Amino acid sequence: MRDLYDIIGVSKNATQDEIKKSYRKLALKYHPDRNPDNKDAEKNFKEAAEAYSILSDAPKRSRYDQFGHAGVGMGDAGGGPGGFSGGGVHMSMDDIFSQFGDIFGGSPFESIFGGSGRGRSRGRGTDIQIKLKLTFEEIAKGIEKKIKIKRSVVAPGADFITCPTCKGQGQVSTVQNTILGHMRSTSVCPHCEGSGKRIGNRPTGSGPDGMIKKEETIKVNVPAGVEEGNYMTLNGQGNENISKTPGDLIIVFMEEDHEYFVRDGENVLLEVTISYPTAVLGGKIEIPTVDGKAGLKIPAGIQSGQVLRLKGKGFPRLRSRSNGDQLVKIQIETPTKLSRSTKKLIESLGNDLEPILNPLSKIDI
Ligand SMILES: [Zn+2]
Repeated sequence: MRDLYDIIGVSKNATQDEIKKSYRKLALKYHPDRNPDNKDAEKNFKEAAEAYSILSDAPKRSRYDQFGHAGVGMGDAGGGPGGFSGGGVHMSMDDIFSQFGDIFGGSPFESIFGGSGRGRSRGRGTDIQIKLKLTFEEIAKGIEKKIKIKRSVVAPGADFITCPTCKGQGQVSTVQNTILGHMRSTSVCPHCEGSGKRIGNRPTGSGPDGMIKKEETIKVNVPAGVEEGNYMTLNGQGNENISKTPGDLIIVFMEEDHEYFVRDGENVLLEVTISYPTAVLGGKIEIPTVDGKAGLKIPAGIQSGQVLRLKGKGFPRLRSRSNGDQLVKIQIETPTKLSRSTKKLIESLGNDLEPILNPLSKIDI
């Protein structure tokens, strides 16, 4: 597997800004619109996007720095005792495009790539893209969220006249004399941007195009189990154009960092420290899950680093009725303050354990 810093073309101590800049160049260079039917370009495009998704995320980057590909679920992360198996970082083209809002700012995908990314057509307003932060608990259950957005809408009282440049056609033809004869080409009218109309009466308070910003509250039903970068399109809830035809509202879901849970696909990872007596004798402890508290049975004689599985206590799988699991990595607390009698008791256990040497590959996150 290639080093992620090599893929992006930056050094190991590059700043976030340098990483972003370098990735931006690669994304433009290998973008499928610029390289139609070029498998190599597509591969480079995806590889760069996946590398960027790790290096642009501070916790993931630090795990990668410490543990390499295995630390971020790429490659063959050992899933044996003591290890959380890696979920992999496979991004679909949709994931990659939805990441572009961050990289190119706002929703300028259209202006950079001519709008082919989402199959946009002329004759409607622009899309609005917003990010919606969700806690793990909200994701686990699904939630209805109310969000405030500002849309461009036609100001009440605004009226429009037929564009004099294109006479309402929305496009203009130009004829050029070339050695091959007259070449006629049509393009979108530069004065009305294809709408065929221009502002006539402009109400006070509206912009030069007769539009105003209107604040609206939108209800979003977030399905249980969504992941960072998933998005939802609400048709017709974007900005209006002057013909009052709206674009879409695109809501990109983001995950809030959790105090102690880590997400790995549909599974939840948690590390718990138990007392030495509980480790030796076994017992039942209460631990948090994304869906409230749950009891966890500790088998007698558990080893430090062992992973226990709470079936079905992870995130719901999208489009399925099943859930992932919660994986609980056990750490054992070694007592540091001992009373005289406890010390005697421990001494009576003897201190004759030969050190066991572990091969390095078993050391995991
Ligand atoms: Zn026009």
